[in-house]
Amino acid sequence: MKWEFTRGAEGTKKFVICNADEGEPGTFKDRVILTERADLAFEGMTVAGYAIGAENGILYLRGEYAYLHAFLEKILADRRKSGLLGNDILGKKGFHFDIRIQMGAGAYVCGEETSLISSCEGLRGDPKNRPPFPAQKGYLGFPTSVNNVETLCCAARIMEKGAAWFAEAGSRGTPSTKLLSISGDCTGPGVYEFPFGIKVRDLLREVGGENAQAVLVGGPSGQFIGPKDFDRIICYDDIGTGGAVVVFGPERDLIDIVHQYLEFFVEESCGYCTPCRVGNVLLKHRVEKILAGQGEPGDLDALKELGDSIKLASRCGLGQTSAHPVLTTLKNFRPVYEARVKPRADKMEATFDIHKALGPAESIAARKSVIYNH
Ligand code: SF4
Repeated sequence: MKWEFTRGAEGTKKFVICNADEGEPGTFKDRVILTERADLAFEGMTVAGYAIGAENGILYLRGEYAYLHAFLEKILADRRKSGLLGNDILGKKGFHFDIRIQMGAGAYVCGEETSLISSCEGLRGDPKNRPPFPAQKGYLGFPTSVNNVETLCCAARIMEKGAAWFAEAGSRGTPSTKLLSISGDCTGPGVYEFPFGIKVRDLLREVGGENAQAVLVGGPSGQFIGPKDFDRIICYDDIGTGGAVVVFGPERDLIDIVHQYLEFFVEESCGYCTPCRVGNVLLKHRVEKILAGQGEPGDLDALKELGDSIKLASRCGLGQTSAHPVLTTLKNFRPVYEARVKPRADKMEATFDIHKALGPAESIAARKSVIYNH
């Protein structure tokens, strides 16, 4: 659909961008593809260029993968020498296409396609308002198709083997296979290719993660599920994922893990809109209150309400998904939270930790404060 929209859009030039900025915690499949099958990704970009009428492609490479830069440039140079890039590709008159590599600088938000385009344009990696969509006005204002590494590899394979071959594997609603980066508390972490439609339970058996108390499907912007959902299947009609699966064993403190992901989102928020910039900090503080043993039952409803508001009111995908670790653990692991909160005998609400707040003053005065609870 993206290719069709980009092809049909008005523009004197068109662009193909390969999003190799994989920054979702727990995702590392693109690194493996670009190390072992980079030719396939470049071939997919070239096919996309032909399909939409673009002469220029950009591979946007995650800053942390800078060590792959020279290796990928060499592959591009070899493809130029073989007539697979450049003018009149493979002798086809008028089929011109070439690819340049643009380095990212480590910002998670640049995985979002409009921020990625801003970054390619030499601007700060901020998301843009939509509409217009990149297929209408993308890189430098020209129609642009932004696809991820795996999609472009699939496109190259489909051209080679046909759509029927591609659709042989998979579930009814989601044909084909999916590369999953699997990590965490399992004996066989790594990149796996499974058909869409695999049950979470079968996947855990394959990777040695049967003891899991929780599985994070789709990275922190995805969802935490527990054993009652392990018979659900991975596909876009049930549990969708861009490729990250993180397994958490029974000894892990889920609330502490949620807190770590919130720290990540607070750090990575671009700060443009208030619900994401401020809301994630408020979420983090309330989770910290629970971790410190100060949590009360009302905190759980407050977390849900705040998380829903951030999701609804944020401007881009980061803020629209950053509350997922909180919201999906609240939904699927509520007893874990309930065991950590209790009503206060004095019916007051603790809005801050007085002992912690007095810490600096106590250290200056070199004596402890006396705190009366009534
Ligand atoms: S949701 Fe977050 S990352 Fe996205 S524009 Fe708003 S502040 Fe920036």
